[in-house]
Amino acid sequence: MRGTEVWRVDIVKGNMGWIEVVVGPMFSGKSEELIRRLRRAEIARQRVQIFKPVIDQRYSVNGIVSHSGLELGSDLVRTAEEILEKVEPRTEVIGIDEGQFLGDGLLSTCNKLADAGKRVIVTGLDTDFMGRPFEPMPRLLAMAEEITKLLAICVRCGNPAVHTQRLVASEELIVVGAGGMYEARCRRCFEPNLSTQKIDEEKASTVKVRAAVR
Ligand code: ADP
Ligand code: ZN
Repeated sequence: MRGTEVWRVDIVKGNMGWIEVVVGPMFSGKSEELIRRLRRAEIARQRVQIFKPVIDQRYSVNGIVSHSGLELGSDLVRTAEEILEKVEPRTEVIGIDEGQFLGDGLLSTCNKLADAGKRVIVTGLDTDFMGRPFEPMPRLLAMAEEITKLLAICVRCGNPAVHTQRLVASEELIVVGAGGMYEARCRRCFEPNLSTQKIDEEKASTVKVRAAVR
C-alpha cells in the first residue's frame, strides 16, 4: 500500500505517533542528535526512513552528515509531500533533516505521519541568518510533542551560541554552505546585519576601483 492510503490509520500496531523537533543554530549538533536517535531506533529493530531536502548537498548526496563526520543514509526529496509518497506503511520512525528548507508543507506532512502512528523526528534551523524565525520550524515547534533546542559554541567568545552568523555578502534567505560561510555566535557577538553591510562594502569598493580606472 502506497500513497495517500497510508495516512488513514495504523491498523497493524494501533500505536500512537508523535512529533519530535530538534532546533538550534548551525554547528549545534542537530544532525548528530538526529543520527543518534535514529541509530538507537535501528538497534531496537524499528523500521527507520530518513529524508532530507535536495537543496542541501553540502557533503554527501544520499546521506545526513554532521559537521563532525557522522553519516547515515537518507532519501532526497524536493518537497514535503514527496515524503508522504516515499514512506512505506511499515516504517515506524521517520527522520527529516534540514526541515527549514521544506516549506509549509512540512507541517501537514508531519501531522499526517504522526496521525498514522509514526514517530517523526525533524531537525532544522529555528532562526535565519538575521536571527528571524525561520518558517516552518517555529510553527512545527508549536505542534510538536517534544522539543529540543541545542546551542553551539560561540567562535568569538566561547559562550553558548544561539545564532547562525552569515559571513558572506548576501541578502538571500537561503545560501547553502558550511565551510567558512557561516559560524556560530552568541547573542552578544551576533551581527545580524553583517552580510548586508558586506554588500554595501563590496559596492563601495567597486565604485572606488571604477573611479581609479578612470
Ligand atoms: P548541525 O546539524 O546543528 O549543524 P552538526 O551535528 O552537523 O550540527 O555538527 C555538530 C559538530 O560540529 C560538533 O560536534 C562539533 O564537532 C562541530 N563544531 C564545529 N564548530 C562548532 C561550534 N562553533 N560549536 C559547536 N560545535 C562545533
Ligand atoms: Zn560570543
